[in-house]
Amino acid sequence: MALRFYNTYSGVMEEFIPSGMKKDKIQDYPPVTIYSCGPTVYGYAHIGNFRTFIFNDLLRRYLKFRGYKVNHAMNITDVDDKTIEGANREGISLRDYTDRYINIFFEDIDVLNIERVEHNPRATESINAMIEIIQRLQERNFVYSRDGSLYFSISKFHKYGMLSRLDRRQIRSGARYDADEYEKDDVRDFVLWKSPKNGEPFWETPFGPGRPGWHIECSAMVRQVFGGTIDIHTGGVDLVFPHHENEIAQSEGAYDEKFVRYWIHVEHLLVDGAKMSKSKGNFYTLRDLLDKGYSPRAIRYLLLTSHYRKQLNFTLEGLKTAENALARIDNFLVRIDDVKKNAEVDPAIRTLSQEFVVHFIEQMDDDLNISGGLGEFFDYVHSINSLIDEGRFSIADRDFVMDILRRIDSVFGFIFFKKASHGIDAERIQSLIDERQKARKEKDFVRADRIRDELLAGGIILEDTREGVRWKIRQ
Ligand code: AMP
Ligand code: ZN
Repeated sequence: MALRFYNTYSGVMEEFIPSGMKKDKIQDYPPVTIYSCGPTVYGYAHIGNFRTFIFNDLLRRYLKFRGYKVNHAMNITDVDDKTIEGANREGISLRDYTDRYINIFFEDIDVLNIERVEHNPRATESINAMIEIIQRLQERNFVYSRDGSLYFSISKFHKYGMLSRLDRRQIRSGARYDADEYEKDDVRDFVLWKSPKNGEPFWETPFGPGRPGWHIECSAMVRQVFGGTIDIHTGGVDLVFPHHENEIAQSEGAYDEKFVRYWIHVEHLLVDGAKMSKSKGNFYTLRDLLDKGYSPRAIRYLLLTSHYRKQLNFTLEGLKTAENALARIDNFLVRIDDVKKNAEVDPAIRTLSQEFVVHFIEQMDDDLNISGGLGEFFDYVHSINSLIDEGRFSIADRDFVMDILRRIDSVFGFIFFKKASHGIDAERIQSLIDERQKARKEKDFVRADRIRDELLAGGIILEDTREGVRWKIRQ
């Protein structure tokens, strides 16, 4: 049994072998090098973007869970057509403009419980690495100049089109493209370095002043952070062409080595069948949804729990379903926390838990099959619930199960992620319950009922049991 990923480059599932050299033990591999295309910081990221960023998070968390070390970079695109336009519109410097959106981006990342990665290079701080690649490409005759801009001649790079499976006859050599983004049926030479225009920031280089094209930025940042071939490169499927195709052409054209071993692409988040995107205006930002009262935890759950190679249609209904699934998990946590019995760990619980972990790994090793992994998790919850029903659950069992849950949550990041979930604060609930008990003892039933109604309004149901009052979340 081994971890496998679908590699866009080969078009098949492949066993994951970091560094290209198979080792006996996972611990023996050098850290897995991952580069993820990050945000272009010209506004708030939308939750389509966050689908991709949450997938990156799942990938790194699962690798660590399996015992790999990771060395992960996600870049910040802080100079391109859109960031320059935004800064000019507001009449402030590019740096001030992009700093604002970088701060907002990291706030959002934290709110969604996405782990910070090891490196966040900024394009504007990687200009020297861009110059080096462009100079090497010049020496190797991949570059020509027109009107002060430099272009990559795609007909010179024989592997051009391998990632996106382009028909080579489509290649229109000599026709040039200046924009950062374009369609797959318009295959032209792309810009590496743009000549300076009025009102645009520029950098001095050996080949004249100007600013980078978008694609060279990522090739340069990969080189700057990792030095050579990397294990995994990720991004949304919209980046396969032209962005990643062009990255390969630049990096492999400049250096005689493979650029990336595994290309992993995340399918789109859709709204009514169309890609969620800024330009279409059919998007929600994280803050839009928080303002509507949805929890970051439910948003994380929804975006994480369908397989990354399947399109996901976003609806508010889907978020409500996510809240319900989380309420089930919370009720389970409340329940197992409630045990009082003293006994050794039940061997049945030990076996059940170990089997669950094995099955979870089997599912997730299969190209991060999260639906399968989640199915195993809910089966486990169900089995433990049955054992509790039978009165077969002790404090030692609870500690054992909690340990398993913590390990699984190092991958999911939504089991114990309480922030703003239903606005629930377990301590506050307990103190309200205590107050209600006190009121009842003092025969102040009006007050006792008021407290119960207040909890109910917050989605908390009280149950009077022989062991005292228990609370659960309304589903
Ligand atoms: P951008 O800030 O536009 O450069 O995009 C950042 C990341 O989000 C890239 O990896 C995109 O491929 C990805 N992305 C953009 N729109 C969507 C979407 N609707 N669903 C999933 N990923 C997306
Ligand atoms: Zn990129």
